[in-house]
Amino acid sequence: MKTNPPARRAPRLAALAAALSLCACAGPGIKPEALNAGPLPAEPATVQSQQDWLGRLPFADRQDFEDAERGRIAGLEQPQIRSADGRVAWDAQAYAFESGDEAPATVNPSLWRQARLNNVSGLFKVTERVYQIRGLDLANMTIVEGDNGIIVIDPLLSAETARAGLDLYYRHRPARPVSAVVYTHSHIDHFGGVRGVISEDDVKAGRVQVIAPSGFMEEAISENVLAGTAMSRRAQYMYGALLPKGATGQVDAGLGKGLSRGTVTLIAPSLLIEKPVETRRIDGVDIEFQLTPGTEAPAEMNLYFPQMRTLCIAENAVRTQHNLLTLRGAKVRDAKQWSYYLDETLARYGARSDVLLGQHHWPTWGRERINRLLADQRDMYAYLNDQTLRLMNQGYTPMEIAERLHKLPEPLASQWYARDYYGSISHNVRAVYQRYLGFYDGNPANLNPLPPVETARRTIAWMGGADAVLAKAREAYRQGDYRWVAQIGNQLVFAEPENQAARQLQAAALEQLGYQSENSTWRNAYLSGAQELRKGVAVPPTQGAASADLVKALTVPMFFDFLSVRLNADKAGGKAMRINWVFPDLDQRYAMTLNNSALTYRADAAHAAPTATITLRKPVLNAVFSGRTKPGDAIRSGQMQVTGDQQALAALFGMLDSFTPSFNIVTPAAR
Ligand SMILES: [Zn+2]
Repeated sequence: MKTNPPARRAPRLAALAAALSLCACAGPGIKPEALNAGPLPAEPATVQSQQDWLGRLPFADRQDFEDAERGRIAGLEQPQIRSADGRVAWDAQAYAFESGDEAPATVNPSLWRQARLNNVSGLFKVTERVYQIRGLDLANMTIVEGDNGIIVIDPLLSAETARAGLDLYYRHRPARPVSAVVYTHSHIDHFGGVRGVISEDDVKAGRVQVIAPSGFMEEAISENVLAGTAMSRRAQYMYGALLPKGATGQVDAGLGKGLSRGTVTLIAPSLLIEKPVETRRIDGVDIEFQLTPGTEAPAEMNLYFPQMRTLCIAENAVRTQHNLLTLRGAKVRDAKQWSYYLDETLARYGARSDVLLGQHHWPTWGRERINRLLADQRDMYAYLNDQTLRLMNQGYTPMEIAERLHKLPEPLASQWYARDYYGSISHNVRAVYQRYLGFYDGNPANLNPLPPVETARRTIAWMGGADAVLAKAREAYRQGDYRWVAQIGNQLVFAEPENQAARQLQAAALEQLGYQSENSTWRNAYLSGAQELRKGVAVPPTQGAASADLVKALTVPMFFDFLSVRLNADKAGGKAMRINWVFPDLDQRYAMTLNNSALTYRADAAHAAPTATITLRKPVLNAVFSGRTKPGDAIRSGQMQVTGDQQALAALFGMLDSFTPSFNIVTPAAR
C-alpha cells in the first residue's frame, strides 16, 4: 500500500529558506501584550555620554564625506525598488531623517556620522572605466567597462536591487551587455542578485563568464544550512530587521543601511580562480586575481586592474572594524590570516594603486592614503589577535580581556575606518578567545552552572525578592548605570517573565545602551530586545519559498545533514531504520541509518537488508524538501519509488521537527 504522510508533517525548508535568503523576516502580528509602547527619550546620562563622544574623535575631518560624494552621477529616479509581487525590496528614502549633521540624543554621534555616509547612494564614477552602485543594498556593485561589454563585480543580495543598479548605470552610460560577473567572495550579499544582471542561458551559451574564488559554491551554500534558523533569528536582532527606521530605531547596519528584501538567486561560476595569484584578460581588461582564503570569508579574492591602477579589496578592508565573529553567529574568523593577507596585498599592490575600492563603503584615492589604510587594517586585526592571546596566556578570561583591551592604540583608534560600527573590539577579542580556547574560561566554578531560569530565580530570591531588587535597579537606572541594570534586569525577567515592571525597566535599560552604542549591530540588538520586552516576539509572516537556486545547489549530503539536525531524539527513541537512497541522475547511492536517535549516512554504500529503498532524481528531492511536492504525491506519480516498507518514509518524516525563527531571546525559552 502506498503511503501519504500527513501534509503538516511534510518536511519543509522554510527555516532554511529564511536562513539561505538571509531574509530577516520583518513581520506584522505582534502579540497583543504591549503595556508601555516605548520608545523612551534619551535619559540625561545618555545625553551626557553622546556629548562626550564629540570630543573623542576628529569630527572636523570631512574627508570621508568628500570621498563618499566624489564622482556621484545620479541617484535612483524612483526611490523604491519593488519586486514582482509588489513587495518593497529597497527604499532609498527610508533614511531621509538622517539629513542633519548633528546627531539626535538617541543616536551615538560616531554611528550617526557613519549612518549618514552610508546613506549617500546612487551611481558613482570611481575612475576611468570604473563605476560603482552604492547604497542600493547592503553591499556595492562595481562595474568595470571592457572592450565590448561590462564586468559586474558582486551583483548585490537581491535580483531586484541588482537590476535597478544596472538600469541606473545604463541610463547614464552606453547600454553594453554584461560580459562577465565576478563574485569576490562567498557571502550572499555579494552574489544573491545575479539573475538581475544575467541569465543562466547567457552563461551556458558562453556569452558571459561567471568568475569566483576557489571553494566558492561549497562555502556559499553550506554556511547557513545547519544552524540556519538560529542564525536567521539572531540576524533579526543584529540588523534590526523588526525595528522601525528612525532616530529611536534602526539607523544603519555598519556595512551599509541594511539588507534588501528581494529575490535571492545564484548562478554557479563558470571559471574558478585556483592559483594564489592569477592574471587573466577579461573583455580586454587585465585582472590580477589574488586569493585570500580564510579571511573575511572562507573563499575570497582581491582584484587588481593594472590598466586602471585600481585595487578592488573585496570585503577584506572596509570602513569599519569588521567582525571576527558576527553577532548572528558563525564560525570564528582567523584574524591572523586576515592580517597576513592584508600585508601581502599591501606589498604586492600598494605602490601600484591610485584607487582602492571595496565592495562596501566608498573608495580611497591616492597612493599614500591607500597604503595607510591597508597598513592600519592589517595592524588592527593583528593587534586584536595577538593582544588577546597575550592576555589569555596571562590567565585573563573573555570579559576581563574585553575590558582591558577596550581601545585600539593611537593613532589607529582615531581612524574612522577602525571604529566599531560592525565589529567591535569587545566582541572581537572574545571571538579570538573562542577560536583558541572555546566556551570554557577554565574556572571550574563555571563548568556546570545552573541554567538561566534556575539561576535567576535563586539569585533574585536570595537578593530579597523581585520588589527589593527592582527598587535597587531603578536607583541604578536613575544613576545611568545601564550596563549593570541590564545584567540584573535580565535576572529579574528570567525569574519572573510576567513581571511587567521588571520587563519595562529592562527594556528601558537596553534602550539607553542601544542609544549610546557606537556599533550599529549592538544598537540594533539592544533596541530589538527592548521592543520584544515591551511588545512580545513578532510572529514572522508565512515565509516565502526557499530561494530555488540555493535549494538546487544543495548537495545530497547537505540535505541529509539538515535532516539529521531536524530529527527529534525523543520521537526517534528506541527506533531503528536502514534506508537506501538511490539517485540515478547523479549516479549516487547512500545508506542511511537511524540508530540511537541519530541519523547517519554513508556515501557509495547500500544496506544489505534495508527497511526500504527509495529511488528518485535530485530535482524531486529538491521539490519534496522545499514543500513544493508532498512525498505521497511524489510516490503516487512515480517520481519517487519505494521498495520494502512503504511506511518507512512517513515514519521517518514523523520524527522530524520544524523550526521557526521566532524563539524567545530576552525572555526565557518557551517550555
Ligand atoms: Zn558583504
